[in-house]
Amino acid sequence: MHGNMMFQPLLISNLIEHAEMYHGDTAIISKNTDGSMTQTNWSKIAKNSKRFANVLQSFGLSLSDRVATIAWNNHRHLEAWYAISGSGLICHTINPRLFPEQLIYIINDAHDKVVIFDKTFLPLIVSIKASLPHVEHFICLDHYDAAVIESFPEVKFYDELIATQSDHYVWPQVEENLASSLCYTSGTTGNPKGVLYSHRSTVLHSYAISLPDSLNLSAHDTILPVVPMFHVNAWGTPYAAAMVGCSLVLPGPMLDGVSLVNLIDQYKVTNALGVPTIWQGLLTAAHDLGSRLVSLKRNVVGGAACPPSMITTFRELYQCETIHAWGMTETSPVGAVNQLKAKHFELSEAEQFNLRFSQGRPPFGVTLRISDEEQGMKELQRDGQTAGHLQIKGHWIIDSYFGKNENALTVDGWFDTGDIATLDEDGYLSIRDRSKDLIKSGGEWISSVELENIAIGHPEIDSVAVIAARHAKWDERPVLIAKKSVASQITEADILNYYSDKIAKWQIPDKVIFVDVMPIGGTGKLLKKDLREKFGSVLLDA
Ligand code: AMP
Repeated sequence: MHGNMMFQPLLISNLIEHAEMYHGDTAIISKNTDGSMTQTNWSKIAKNSKRFANVLQSFGLSLSDRVATIAWNNHRHLEAWYAISGSGLICHTINPRLFPEQLIYIINDAHDKVVIFDKTFLPLIVSIKASLPHVEHFICLDHYDAAVIESFPEVKFYDELIATQSDHYVWPQVEENLASSLCYTSGTTGNPKGVLYSHRSTVLHSYAISLPDSLNLSAHDTILPVVPMFHVNAWGTPYAAAMVGCSLVLPGPMLDGVSLVNLIDQYKVTNALGVPTIWQGLLTAAHDLGSRLVSLKRNVVGGAACPPSMITTFRELYQCETIHAWGMTETSPVGAVNQLKAKHFELSEAEQFNLRFSQGRPPFGVTLRISDEEQGMKELQRDGQTAGHLQIKGHWIIDSYFGKNENALTVDGWFDTGDIATLDEDGYLSIRDRSKDLIKSGGEWISSVELENIAIGHPEIDSVAVIAARHAKWDERPVLIAKKSVASQITEADILNYYSDKIAKWQIPDKVIFVDVMPIGGTGKLLKKDLREKFGSVLLDA
């Protein structure tokens, strides 16, 4: 049939072009690694990203080569992001809190050709660089510094590189399904797995999270993504910010409550986003500093369950609406956001509060279901009561992991999230449990399998299990349950010490509990659920 709409691929470069053209003078505030502040705007960010795209082009990289960033949320990182994805390369954001062996694994698995890092991470990069055979260029996200050269003679400096480049660069019209960024997630067992986002999925996700019933972002806002750019692309906010033309406050390395309260008050932040642990620190600091957080209209809490008391405190003491959201690395991340519907405003305040505690409902573009089994196709009732395996499909949901041939879906094409949940008739999601044995501590994953493998390597330990115990500050912390070998005199301190040179300090279990018998099920499997029930609140009781 004749007559149609024009076709334009959905590209990340469109976002930065739009922000440059229509929101050029909108402020981007950035805290540098040394604590100093930089004030820039979308126009300057766009120009520098084109300069850096010229730098990357001069390296002779090929389409879809991977460029890694190990950096805080700051303006140079934002410029590099748009330059990398915009020019058809893949921006691989890396979590610097990982143990050096894990970083080496991830960088080599991704075949990163360039590693861009904040000065804070210089010692880390220097210590691992000999193990990274594919990396051709290391770039320090800073101005020239002779002290850096001393420990790392071959390093290049971002400011020096872009200073000599033109801000003229024509963004290539790549295919919208081309991969644009890469983020690794902790595997339930074994090594971390890469999740690739595409230009198309990123742009569609940006539309969805900006909607009023979603994270509600607009050109009226000044948003503070406390969630790091290496945690699922700061939940997509740097892309959505360019789309809606809002102002950004990028907090750099200082994520403590006092620093955040000061940023919110000084730069009149209207909407901030982060994991529950961040908000606990912020509420304490606001109280101690006597701040009323006057400008803050909304805050988005996700990555772990938001305690109801937190929602109440923000609302009653600070007139701030807390938006509880659910998502994961494999889902870009937003899969559900808690916003009420018109009919709910007829309910009592208390009933409305109850509704706000759940993880919310899916925005257009994703669909949720609960299923009887992980691989199962039998959909369970949406009655708010029946719990099952939470599964998702949609425009920004994973199909297969990076470098893996097989798809990651159920036979009928849904992604199983590993969460156990209920859905009600309106699609409101309540996360009840997790089927995978991972521990999420302050927004960071710890693999129970990895901790178990280490402990079992101790000659005086017979069998072990690591569970996620609830924790007042970090949401969850690992607790090791161990059965000693006969006649062993080993102590809790011995085991904790045994971990000290094998994993990062923050991953070491908080507690060791010795038992005489481990609960074993009919199929010979260790019953972790029983251990979770018995010892899951041991850290709270303490
Ligand atoms: P990640 O891939 O690191 O983003 O982690 C995703 C997982 O975090 C989900 O599968 C959930 O287990 C958990 N999670 C994320 N958001 C929430 C939330 N609002 N409430 C409870 N658990 C959450």
